[in-house]
Amino acid sequence: MIHFVGAGPGAPDLITLRGAALLREADVVIWAGSLVNPALLDNCKIGCEIFDSSRMTLDEVLAVMERAEAEGKTTVRLHTGDPSLYGALREQLDALRQRDVAFDVTPGVSSLFGAAAALGAEFTLPGVSQSLIVTRLAGRTPVPEKEALRSLARHGASMALFLSAGMLDEVQTELLAGGYAPDTPAALVYKASWPDERVVRCTVGTLAAAGAEAGIAKTALILVGGFLDAPYEKSRLYDPSFTTGFREGKT
Ligand code: SAH
Repeated sequence: MIHFVGAGPGAPDLITLRGAALLREADVVIWAGSLVNPALLDNCKIGCEIFDSSRMTLDEVLAVMERAEAEGKTTVRLHTGDPSLYGALREQLDALRQRDVAFDVTPGVSSLFGAAAALGAEFTLPGVSQSLIVTRLAGRTPVPEKEALRSLARHGASMALFLSAGMLDEVQTELLAGGYAPDTPAALVYKASWPDERVVRCTVGTLAAAGAEAGIAKTALILVGGFLDAPYEKSRLYDPSFTTGFREGKT
């Protein structure tokens, strides 16, 4: 059995209870050494075979899984954050489906949420934005044309950009061209939940300069939108005059 497990954003206690239990039972662990905190491997039992996927190809990862399966072993494939976001998950699952190898997926806390926590921010603020766009700038991996950053920026919604901190000049240009005002709040969150986490608050107009000054070019999320600063409306759910299925509103 192959267990795909989200490791969380970095702090070793931000893995789920289920993920940690699977890690403790695993005979083989394939982990994303470039982004997952090595402290998580302290969960592994003595004798567990450990492979760093950042130095492996897809075929090599699959070969390790297939061998482990043939030997009747349990494998954990440990992904950073949640495996369903920029995790190259599907190609692994499809290859296992083809080979009739059983697997399951345990979700993790995405760095998206680690970053919001670091900022004490809520992406979906009433009166500001009720949508979160999760995207990236096209780099060596292309982004479909209809999802170009410039066109997504037109919505003015809350936005989180993965894999783009090394291209802050272009990010800033595209966000401005799409219609975010230069004074729209923005933030860079480097290594959310790690001991060396850093938070840099800026605006869309100062994003590139702020990143350069802080020396942040990787392992960071770019967050953009009024949710980081703008005035907002309080939630209806907790408004005394608002009736819900659980509480009678009082005027
Ligand atoms: N599946 C992961 C994302 C993997 S893509 C998740 O759900 O978080 C790798 C990118 O994620 C990095 O380039 C960076 O943009 C972001 N990232 C991963 N861990 C991070 C962290 N602890 N803090 C900030 N950004 C992080």
